[in-house]
Amino acid sequence: MKLTFLGTSAATAMPLPFCGCAVCRHARRDGGKDIRRRASLVIDGELLIDLGPDSAAACGQYGVDLTKIRVLLQTHAHSDHFDAGHFITRHPDYAVENLAPLLVAASGGTLRAMNEAIRREDGSADLSDGDFCRHLRLTLFPMAPGETAVLGNYTVTAFDSRHDPARQALVYLIERGGKSVFYGTDLLEVGEEIYACLREARPDAVILDQTYGEGKNAGGHLDAGEVAKVVRRLREIGAVTVRTHIYATHISHEGNPPHEEMCSLAGQYGYAIAYDGLTVTV
Ligand SMILES: [Zn+2]
Ligand SMILES: [Zn+2]
Ligand SMILES: [Zn+2]
Repeated sequence: MKLTFLGTSAATAMPLPFCGCAVCRHARRDGGKDIRRRASLVIDGELLIDLGPDSAAACGQYGVDLTKIRVLLQTHAHSDHFDAGHFITRHPDYAVENLAPLLVAASGGTLRAMNEAIRREDGSADLSDGDFCRHLRLTLFPMAPGETAVLGNYTVTAFDSRHDPARQALVYLIERGGKSVFYGTDLLEVGEEIYACLREARPDAVILDQTYGEGKNAGGHLDAGEVAKVVRRLREIGAVTVRTHIYATHISHEGNPPHEEMCSLAGQYGYAIAYDGLTVTV
C-alpha cells in the first residue's frame, strides 16, 4: 500500500492566516515542512480519506489523479475534512467528462452532515435523491462503529473516534493484500475496541491525531503527550513494533513546535511527524 499525505494540518492550516505567533512566523519564514494543508490521505491513488478544502490543490502538487479515486472514506464532515464545493463539481452542470463511479463511506450522521453542506452549496442538490446520486455516479455506504466492509479493493473497519458524537465521526483500519493502515484523525481518544482490534491486526502503519502540543489540549483531539501514551500502549500490547510506521498528523500551532523540533520530540517516543507530500509504502 502506498500512502500519500495530501495534508497534515488541523482545521486552521499552518501557518494560520492571521496568526503572528512564533510557530506561524517560523512557518512563513522557512516554509518547507512547516507549511501544512488540511489533513487528507490517499492510498494507492485509488482510496481517498477526506475530500477536504485543500485536497484538490494538493493532488495537483503531488501528482495524484482524483479521477482514479474509487473509494472516498469520510471521517466526518467538519469543514476542514469535507469540501462540498469540490464534491458537487461531479454534477453534469459543471461539464464534468468521463466521470468514474465513486463509493462514499461514512457514518449515517456524517452522510447527513455532508448533505447539509452540499445543500448549502446548491439548494437543488440532495444526496437522499437517487437521481442526484446517479448524476454524480455515487454509491453511498453508511458505516457504523465496529462494522467491517469490503469497499473496492479494500477491507475497511470503522471505529468511533469520540470526536463528533452528535454526528458519529469515524476512524478506520484499511486492509489490502495482507497489509493494513490505521488512520486515526480526528480522534478524542483511542477506545478499548480500537486497541483490541489493532492488537489482532498488527497494522503496518498507524496515523494519529496530534492537534496539540503536550499539555495544550483544548478538546476534541489528542495532544503530543497523549499520542506518546497511545504509542507506548500499542507497543506494550504488541500491536506495533519498531518496524511499524507511526505518524502524527492533523497538527496545529497550539503547543506544537516547528517540524524539526516536533520530530526530535516524537522520536524519543518512537513515532514520527508526517508532512505534506510524504509518501510511505508499506
Ligand atoms: Zn479536523
Ligand atoms: Zn500561530
Ligand atoms: Zn473535526
